[in-house]
Amino acid sequence: MLHIGCHLSSTKGYLSMAETALSIGADTFAFFTRNPRGGKAKEIESADVEAFLELIKEKRFAKIVAHAPYTLNPCSAEARVREFARMTFADDMKRMERIPGHYYNFHPGSHVGQGIEVGIRLTADMLNEIITPEQNTIVLLETMAGKGSEIGGRFEELRAIIDRVECDSKIGVCLDTCHVSDAGYDIIGDLDGVLDEFDNVIGLNRLKAIHLNDSQNDMGMRKDRHAKIGEGKLGIETIAKVINHPKLKHLPFILETPTDLDGHAAEISLLRSL
Ligand code: FE
Ligand code: FE
Ligand code: ZN
Repeated sequence: MLHIGCHLSSTKGYLSMAETALSIGADTFAFFTRNPRGGKAKEIESADVEAFLELIKEKRFAKIVAHAPYTLNPCSAEARVREFARMTFADDMKRMERIPGHYYNFHPGSHVGQGIEVGIRLTADMLNEIITPEQNTIVLLETMAGKGSEIGGRFEELRAIIDRVECDSKIGVCLDTCHVSDAGYDIIGDLDGVLDEFDNVIGLNRLKAIHLNDSQNDMGMRKDRHAKIGEGKLGIETIAKVINHPKLKHLPFILETPTDLDGHAAEISLLRSL
């Protein structure tokens, strides 16, 4: 059974997201915990969350993969930006406990010229300040395209962050198929080899979710431009290999493809047929 969904709008609350997911054949989904550019999050209504939890249990949803705002940069050179990242992350951790046991994915950040080492340290510092052994949420570091000064383009960089986090049992990884290809990992020609490398460097036990995207660019281009399923350089064969791979097929797959809800419904039914 393929667990798949896409990003959904959270403006109408949790129950509405689960209902929308069901209407497009999804059994998981992603949502931005607040406006992707940041800002204040919407108040969580208890009745809404309760109805949501009931419904996803009844319909046997896979884990939900919440996404932090893009503007959250824990390793900025500016103290003000790092402080915004801390406050947002801490607030999101509190909110995620309202739906215990799900995932919170974030971009490890951009070091903006300070160097990868400094970036890794600052990101790990934030995680150490906020993550507690009591929390029920698993925080996912996303594999990045390595665009600009992004950290997380190499598996070793994610490993280095994890190594510095005290509560590392609360840390997992979300692999983005567009990003890893952009970062130079050959998932078209050698998916097994890439997964072996992931296993050696990070450990496949850390891999908790997949962002399933095709890519507009060739391997190693570091552009981070997503394409619709089967309409990019990865192609439908690679996508089929990813979703059916024995080491991956149990994971929640999240589409971040440039299309609307009907487009996602069509992608989901295509993927379920593969
Ligand atoms: Fe992302
Ligand atoms: Fe992604
Ligand atoms: Zn991306």
